[in-house]
Amino acid sequence: MTSALAPDQLGPTVCVGEILVEIVATTVGDGFVEAQPLIGPFPSGAPAIFISQCGRLGGSAAMIGAVGADDFGRVNIERLKRDGVDISAISIDPDYPTGSAFVRYRGDGSRDFVYNIAKSAAARFGWSEGVRDLIGRSGHLHVMGSALSVPSACEVIDKAVDIVKARGGTLSVDPNIRKELKLDEDTERRFARLVAAADLLLPSGEELERAAGVEGEANAIRRLFDMGVKEIVLKRGADGATYFNCKSERIDAPAFIVKEIDPTGAGDCFGGAYLTCRRLGMSAEDALTYAAAAGARNVTVVGPMEGAGTRAELDAFIATTARHS
Ligand code: ATP
Ligand code: MG
Repeated sequence: MTSALAPDQLGPTVCVGEILVEIVATTVGDGFVEAQPLIGPFPSGAPAIFISQCGRLGGSAAMIGAVGADDFGRVNIERLKRDGVDISAISIDPDYPTGSAFVRYRGDGSRDFVYNIAKSAAARFGWSEGVRDLIGRSGHLHVMGSALSVPSACEVIDKAVDIVKARGGTLSVDPNIRKELKLDEDTERRFARLVAAADLLLPSGEELERAAGVEGEANAIRRLFDMGVKEIVLKRGADGATYFNCKSERIDAPAFIVKEIDPTGAGDCFGGAYLTCRRLGMSAEDALTYAAAAGARNVTVVGPMEGAGTRAELDAFIATTARHS
């Protein structure tokens, strides 16, 4: 199975969007209407988690976004730098604070967030000279659905898709639309356009049907391939993941057996690992193994990207961790 994705040598995988810190409640319950103990800040934001995993695995990777001139911003920049991510197109906003997400887990296991994104530095960047230079040498663009609620990210993504594709680069899309992130009509249209242009789609659960606009897994898969998508990897949490391509080939990847401590970021690490392995020339089957390991390893650690693994860490994890059958 050859990859539909542009090779690593064409240029970095670029991710555009919100860079945040995440502050995590350490107890389950009714916070934040009552005081609750917290731990953080952890570097976060779905696009940032994704690109951190790409860099950690040794893929060429770069991030576009903004942070404030504060320690929350520095926590993010230092982490991405450490992970080998090109940070030349991350701007530092002098006036607005770094974006944030406070999360607490409910008794039923669900997550509930308090966000500060739209009115933070996370939303204050645009098409600058540095961004144009980076896009002009990039080999792949990854779009997170969550970034589409940030107008500055949309501006960059709209221009970047055409430039990256024109130079032989490819596009991946993770629908990643949470209930808290409302889509207006324009955004919904942009989302549909991006899905149709995607070489790789990385939906989780019901996002598959939402992206396809039809009910039922098989119908949705068929519809998406008719629209022009080349590969789909459907994420199913602790139930694993499934690869589909337009030649009706399918690979099921069972999840690794781990104790879930903090599920945030699993999908982003999974996607970053899958994409990077494919761009580095791995088969879909091998890439799925690394992706499943990256997702599973990340849920064993508190913090959205604290468990993102290097190639050596994922090899060790794979060698020592059993999988569901
Ligand atoms: P996110 O919350 O980051 O948006 P997602 O919904 O996009 O996550 P998931 O399906 O939750 O993505 O996780 C992606 C992959 O990570 C799964 O397909 C699986 O391989 C792995 N994974 C996630 N949770 C677990 C778990 N509890 N145990 C083992 N593997 C897991
Ligand atoms: Mg997701």
